[in-house]
Amino acid sequence: MSYDKELTAARKAASLAASLCQDTGDLCKDSGKDTLQRITKLVNETIANDGSYGACTLSPEDVLRAIDSGRSEGGSFGRHWVLDPIDGTKGFVRGDQYAVALALLHNGKAVLGVLACPNLPLASIAGNAPSEYAVGCLFYAQVGSGTFMQSLDGSSPVKVHVSDIGNSEDASFFEPFEKAHSMQELTSAIARKLGVKAPPVRIDSQAKYGALSRGDGEMYFRFPRKGYREKIWDHAAGCIVVTEAGGVVIDAAGRPLDFSKGEHLDSDTGIIATNRKLMPSILKAVRESLEEKPSSC
Ligand code: AMP
Ligand code: MG
Repeated sequence: MSYDKELTAARKAASLAASLCQDTGDLCKDSGKDTLQRITKLVNETIANDGSYGACTLSPEDVLRAIDSGRSEGGSFGRHWVLDPIDGTKGFVRGDQYAVALALLHNGKAVLGVLACPNLPLASIAGNAPSEYAVGCLFYAQVGSGTFMQSLDGSSPVKVHVSDIGNSEDASFFEPFEKAHSMQELTSAIARKLGVKAPPVRIDSQAKYGALSRGDGEMYFRFPRKGYREKIWDHAAGCIVVTEAGGVVIDAAGRPLDFSKGEHLDSDTGIIATNRKLMPSILKAVRESLEEKPSSC
């Protein structure tokens, strides 16, 4: 089945969605009125520029209704759009990496994904978190069709692939910038077991999945502390962007991520994204490191 129509719409939406909200709660308050006006203006400009909606203008109330109509609970049947309008809010506030992440689930599987990364340079960031920001990148993938990248100002798309490095000593890894979001002591232990020489590249948001999909690094480790439950909108788009680029995204037990269980992933052990060659040795290192880890973590 092709999702071309949905992909075209999703690419447009992800390029614009940085000013959208997860629900309308804050927009309905007095303090949200200005933002609602700005969003309404942006939506109406987009509709006018697109041309395929005829002479249609939305009121602020229409926009609130449209946002709230997207409150699907997900699950294993039918189609569900999954949007993280600002993934990596802390990076956004710091002026570092963040992403607009949009995915389509069909019967519980991610079938298309778009990641807009406004602060990610088009050139590789291999080995280092970027210090200078360019025009930003848009990654998009549809099941069975590969992953493409273009600049956010609309350059021609190029097909991207994960790195084919198979020796973990030559590999580098991404992890969250925020210490609270992943156990960096555990990822260092895993990296030591794998003989990784390069220091971790710590950046916010699903920009990590985008960078991995084009081979800027070989591994992404994410091990939240006990009790944290991963949300599907933090991984669905990134997961298909990486898998369509030839990579794998699995939990620490080696299972593919399951997006069919509603808003949470059922994995509470950690997430690994990498290429096929490195996956077996990483899983072994992860298993051993988890066994050695104090259970209080
Ligand atoms: P990253 O920049 O990769 O850490 O990912 C950002 C995402 O981390 C946010 O969108 C949050 O949903 C998620 N997040 C928030 N708190 C935590 C936490 N304690 N552990 C793991 N992830 C978290
Ligand atoms: Mg997020």
